[in-house]
Amino acid sequence: MNEFVETILALQWHPPKPSYDVVIIGAGGHGLATAYYLATRHGITNVAVLEASYIGSGNSGRNTTIIRANYGIPESIRFYQHSLELYRSLEDETGCWIMHSTKGLLWLAHTESAMRAERARCLLNVACGAETVMVTPEEARTICPQLDLSGGGRYPVLGASYHVGAATARHDRVVWAYAQGAMRKGVDVLQHTPVTGLLRDGERVTGVQTANGPISAGLVLSAVGGNVSTIAAMADVRLPIRTHPLQAFVTNAYAQGFGPIISDTELFCYVSQTARGQMLMGAEFDPQPSYSLGSSFNFLQSCSAKVTHLLPFLRDLRILRQWTGICDISTDFSPIMGETGVPGFLVTTGWGTWGFKAIPAGGEQMAELIATGRTPVLLEPFQLDRFARDLPMADQGSTGTR
Ligand SMILES: Cc1cc2nc3c(=O)[nH]c(=O)nc-3n(C[C@H](O)[C@H](O)[C@H](O)COP(=O)(O)OP(=O)(O)OC[C@H]3O[C@@H](n4cnc5c(N)ncnc54)[C@H](O)[C@@H]3O)c2cc1C
Repeated sequence: MNEFVETILALQWHPPKPSYDVVIIGAGGHGLATAYYLATRHGITNVAVLEASYIGSGNSGRNTTIIRANYGIPESIRFYQHSLELYRSLEDETGCWIMHSTKGLLWLAHTESAMRAERARCLLNVACGAETVMVTPEEARTICPQLDLSGGGRYPVLGASYHVGAATARHDRVVWAYAQGAMRKGVDVLQHTPVTGLLRDGERVTGVQTANGPISAGLVLSAVGGNVSTIAAMADVRLPIRTHPLQAFVTNAYAQGFGPIISDTELFCYVSQTARGQMLMGAEFDPQPSYSLGSSFNFLQSCSAKVTHLLPFLRDLRILRQWTGICDISTDFSPIMGETGVPGFLVTTGWGTWGFKAIPAGGEQMAELIATGRTPVLLEPFQLDRFARDLPMADQGSTGTR
């Protein structure tokens, strides 16, 4: 994908300059979106995005592409709803086809306590601007005719919340839309340029050390996905982050077509269909913290057992591929964005199993903070100092979290 894109896009690839106003570490969705909005919204183009490998080689090119805003606390719902809306207009804004498709998401409930949680979710979502309604089992089957309402006789569906605006978009197209948009404005994206250290002048971070030499910077932003603890340690910043693998897999194509996204927080699994017709599935993150990209048979076995109770047609499909990403998971399951207490060093991290949907809003909010020096209102609750102030944003509104 990467080489293909590089050859068809007429982009200018420059050698690094000795100095930039802003250096962003990591060319995943968050780093590139921040660069894009710095250039397009604020006219700041003396920016470099440094990538250890190739564009989108981290989680932004490995995720299951679900975009939704049906979270569990007002701060998250408003943030992700804004992101969902930015996604809707991203093709028009960038001129790139990101294969955005609004599908709706059914969040199934099998117990009375889950029904209460889903009813509360609906009320809070609507109050905060996200369209989520309760549906009966029969309505759920109208939306998804393949659903076995008895859950294979073990997990009967008592009802579901239905998040109308949930969508998917092709992940590497999103990443490349931002890369292309930023580069066309003059941002340098430097692939195969790992950052190996930070330059310091006393307390202040003044640049980065790369495999190809030092680069000085007015400001350094870490957007390194699952590697933030390593980069933050270089600035003597300790973050409330643990890194866990998260796995996913696809089957061969299911010709009949499958409309919505199905999610289940009691069984910890979710299912959707890709544009190629493959069935795409995921579950909770691996419990053991690790930087391993290894995939496991255990995951395939447990996820398959759960999803086939809900969608029996999946038993007739074959598993084609499985893969893993490493997720930086914060202790309150919410992102950490902004200042770190070390002058010149910012982070956008803690995107865990849920950060693909957040790429537009995360990039936009970080760009505004960097450009204006003022903390934007949607970002404000997600600053690092919330932990010191005992104001965690606890929200296990992501399917992959327990
Ligand atoms: C299997 C799976 C399924 C998921 N499904 C969903 C989903 O359905 N919906 C959702 O919203 N989210 C999902 N996520 C989460 C989402 O993918 C991530 O939260 C998001 O992509 C994080 O983006 P990022 O830009 O912060 O990091 P990344 O995309 O990981 O980018 C970080 C980049 O930094 C680079 N880097 C690291 N260290 C250095 C260094 N020292 N120097 C230079 N570069 C460096 C890496 O090579 C990488 O390219 C999923 C994740 C996985 C793994």
